[in-house]
Amino acid sequence: MMMSSDTSLLEPVSCGLCGADDPEPLGWLDDLRYGTLPAPIQLVICRRCKFRYLTPQPRPGTEARFYPREYDPHRRQGITAWARRLALRREIRQLWSYLAPPRRILEIGCATGELLQLIREAGNPRVRGLEPDAEAVQLARARGLEVIEGTLDDFNSSDRNYDTILLQHVLEHLAQPQQALSRIATLLRPGGVVIAWLPNGHSWAATFFGPAWMGYDPPRHRSVFTPETVRRAFTAAGFTIVSEYHEWHGLEWAWGLRLLARVRGWKRTERLLTRLHFVLILAATPIGILAALFRRSGRIRIIAHKPPV
Ligand SMILES: [Zn+2]
Repeated sequence: MMMSSDTSLLEPVSCGLCGADDPEPLGWLDDLRYGTLPAPIQLVICRRCKFRYLTPQPRPGTEARFYPREYDPHRRQGITAWARRLALRREIRQLWSYLAPPRRILEIGCATGELLQLIREAGNPRVRGLEPDAEAVQLARARGLEVIEGTLDDFNSSDRNYDTILLQHVLEHLAQPQQALSRIATLLRPGGVVIAWLPNGHSWAATFFGPAWMGYDPPRHRSVFTPETVRRAFTAAGFTIVSEYHEWHGLEWAWGLRLLARVRGWKRTERLLTRLHFVLILAATPIGILAALFRRSGRIRIIAHKPPV
């Protein structure tokens, strides 16, 4: 684990949606998961467009410093990995009309390629990934997937006409989400779709857990979308929103309790909660279902359509 008091790793930023530099402070967030921050970072809301983001944020090129080796999406194993694959297979079936061959699929920020591999197994081999983390790229390639190492900025813009672009918990990691969505629109064919999964800052869990909500995850998550701001960002990039789905699960409640115990310094409670993690996920599932019914889930999925010219 790296620790640094080097504040030059971070820089103040303006609003990632409207570009204004008129932030109103909301509170302080620390990296409760991995402890990579020398000090808490401020969460602000843009006075002009109501977008919530962190400032300062990691400088371009320093991101690797804030992704520890044990970073979850790159290291899933055992029952968590199994449960996740099961959920992903179910979701792939639900979304099959957007994923079926002969569609060309691009996943931006594909990590180790789990989702792409499952889409391929479901019957569409025309999948490709883009991922900045070299180690994750290697793991994805070991699955036999075609993955380009880099970010949207490095992506060859002559490679267009994708039918479906997947953004699985990616938007909240981007320094310039509005710019990224406009760029993504140019990679899609007219009539293509984007499917984006992201944390919802306007959720019961975010309200209940405050700074211990797992959806903050600073500084890896640079911003906090709400259904309202994510809709506005997609619309500004020329998309039409087709659906806003609220996921139901107990995961964020189980994690929230653990992080809350960590903030309070309750070490024994935290150890107990860690041991009970999977049980807690199941136990909290009814709350997750209720939150989804009230459209206040902590994780949402947006499907957005690029107009057919
Ligand atoms: Zn703004």
